[in-house]
Amino acid sequence: MAIVHELSWSTSRARTFATCRRRYYNDYYLSWLGWGRNADPERRQAYLLKKMTRLPMFAGDIVHRAIVEYFARRDQGLGWTAEEATAWGVAELRRGYKESRDGGWKARPAKSVRLAEHHYEEERIDEASGAAGDYGKRYVERISACLQAFFELPAITAARDAEPGDWLACEEMSTFELFDTKIFAIPDFAFLDPSGEPEPVVRIVDWKTGRPSDADRFQLEVYAFYARERWGVDPSRTKPVDVYLESGELAEVEVNEASLEETLARIEMSLSEMKAVHFDADRSKGDPEDFPMVPEGDARECGTCNYRELCGRG
Ligand code: SF4
Repeated sequence: MAIVHELSWSTSRARTFATCRRRYYNDYYLSWLGWGRNADPERRQAYLLKKMTRLPMFAGDIVHRAIVEYFARRDQGLGWTAEEATAWGVAELRRGYKESRDGGWKARPAKSVRLAEHHYEEERIDEASGAAGDYGKRYVERISACLQAFFELPAITAARDAEPGDWLACEEMSTFELFDTKIFAIPDFAFLDPSGEPEPVVRIVDWKTGRPSDADRFQLEVYAFYARERWGVDPSRTKPVDVYLESGELAEVEVNEASLEETLARIEMSLSEMKAVHFDADRSKGDPEDFPMVPEGDARECGTCNYRELCGRG
């Protein structure tokens, strides 16, 4: 069945919309159909830029995949130690780095690792000066610290040791409908905690490998909404939490009917803003001028953005 361009919503899409409209356009419109080798060159360029990652994101992805692997092995009655997971994670980081640096990504761009740091020849990835070694070491240490915390942090023992029969989700892409729109939600891990008082609670966990941000809390609130829609869970029995693995801190949100109403209103507002500029990318590339760039000199947004070459920034 052919994939059809449609408007959907997720917290990450909303975040992109709020930070830079041009990035949003590139991510969700211009890059559409760019996966074909004979695609329109502009769409193809945007698609390849979209597929790039950065070392911090790649390291975070590795930690998430290691945790998924831990649960997959548990489900099969197999063990995996912190040391084994860390060795796998560090090897994966090195493999991806080389794939990006040596051009191995070109054979299968959509499935390979291409680092924006290499694409833009950033100073931080310069090997001759030794900068790349220091930069890479930071993420080797991050992977090691995050996985060590996952295996040892007492505050997440209930998640780590949850019985497979109590698991509800483990990074599965899932959707539900709101305002006639598909809403994407991917909880990192959710399980029924039988120790809740006076009755079992549903714990929804997001593993974080970076520093806390305002968007994290909103994401948890959307998961609580998802739990009600998908599993029919009373909001008062939902306990969503962000686990910041590198620092060992946990941030839980309080869920009740009032907070869900607020979340619903925020989703509706975000969706209506997206609908106002939506067009069918199967039929045209639209007008990029309808999606303004952030002001020139916004180093925070443009400095590490994948689309710098399209915008003439950096
Ligand atoms: S380079 Fe800057 S203006 Fe262009 S898409 Fe990225 S953040 Fe937006």
